[in-house]
Amino acid sequence: MRPGSTTTFINTHQLDPEELMKAAVVRDFRQPLVIEHRPVPTPGHGEIVVRIEASGLCHTDIHAAHGDWPIKPTLPFVPGHEGVGIVTRVGAGVTRVKEGDRVALPWLGYACGTCEFCVSGWETLCVQQVNTGYGMDGAYSEYAKAFAAYVGIVPAGLDPFDAAPLACAGVTTYKAVKASGARSSDLVAVFGVGGLGHLAVQYAKIAGATVVAVDLTEDKLAMAKQLGADYTVNAAREDPVQAIQQLGGADAAIALAVSPRAFEQAFASLRRKGTLVFVALPADNSVRIPIFETVLNGITIVGSIVGTRKDLDEVYELHARGRTHVIRETRSLETVNQSIQDVLDGTVTGRIVFDLRDAAVAAPLERQLTAAGV
Ligand code: NAD
Ligand code: ZN
Ligand code: ZN
Repeated sequence: MRPGSTTTFINTHQLDPEELMKAAVVRDFRQPLVIEHRPVPTPGHGEIVVRIEASGLCHTDIHAAHGDWPIKPTLPFVPGHEGVGIVTRVGAGVTRVKEGDRVALPWLGYACGTCEFCVSGWETLCVQQVNTGYGMDGAYSEYAKAFAAYVGIVPAGLDPFDAAPLACAGVTTYKAVKASGARSSDLVAVFGVGGLGHLAVQYAKIAGATVVAVDLTEDKLAMAKQLGADYTVNAAREDPVQAIQQLGGADAAIALAVSPRAFEQAFASLRRKGTLVFVALPADNSVRIPIFETVLNGITIVGSIVGTRKDLDEVYELHARGRTHVIRETRSLETVNQSIQDVLDGTVTGRIVFDLRDAAVAAPLERQLTAAGV
């Protein structure tokens, strides 16, 4: 890889195998992603380039690719904010990491570092933040550029394929359980035990709570039970509100299902003084919550967005101590469109993690030819 590579190489056919990489690109919100061959990025001041090993498929990537949210990414872009890999180049001024370090590229790709939120442990609320795989190209790619100050440091010995989902699904639910205030005597309801939820169950158990897991398929509920859930409710077959109220009502409910209806059920499953944590971000952006019951029952509703670098350190520490398990399925990046469909169909248990290790070295010639349009 040489510094200053540009797309000119593609146009002139003067290809250096080291300068091209494979990436899955969103070009249109209504079209499938396209696998393209692009120049490997070069790091600017404060930036690093990471050779991605493992890249998790978060449901947020699907919202990004479909343009689901009020603020849309600028096309074209590379999604992916659960990227883990090895630093191959560091830009000027980088001291936090060095070549050869294993790092994680989380959703919070950049924050200003000086605003009231950044200096008070709420960098995730920084107005100037840039999000990986949304406001800047992400980790569905053999190489990705990142701001050194905001990457996660993956401890030695941690499997990169575990570290990847922990970089978003892990840190987000770890933080959401904190936000729920869950304590040992509490009943915590986890609505949606997919990529995020299977970790939420474990963090709620680590907090000492009794956990009820809610989802729509028996496979996911069986997994939740194996991971420590005390009760499970199949919302496709029974009313979760009734089932949870029969248990005395939830002290906290964490809404991770991509469905406003699930948020409303989570609200109704609370007991007095309960807390509802909003985490999922369905395209359908509103819920109906009754004012009267919220007031009379002293309910707290809190929004929770990912977690800080400190939260991610704690997530990795817990995993290194064997306190959490990541349920995942490894696939190649070429399956990206089918993988998205499988997540939407609800047939994936845990997380899909793309394996980018071999791709980076296995097919340089083929990549050259494709990029050159041969
Ligand atoms: P996922 O698809 O892996 O999991 C969602 C789960 O909800 C699935 O298991 C699905 O079967 C289940 N589900 C769907 N409808 C349901 C219903 N009515 N009742 C119960 N369960 C239901 O998705 P994910 O990657 O875990 O992400 C979940 C959501 O969280 C997405 O909207 C994503 O954008 C959002 N997210 C938010 C943050 C944040 O910081 N707030 C971070 C990451 C992801
Ligand atoms: Zn995510
Ligand atoms: Zn800031």
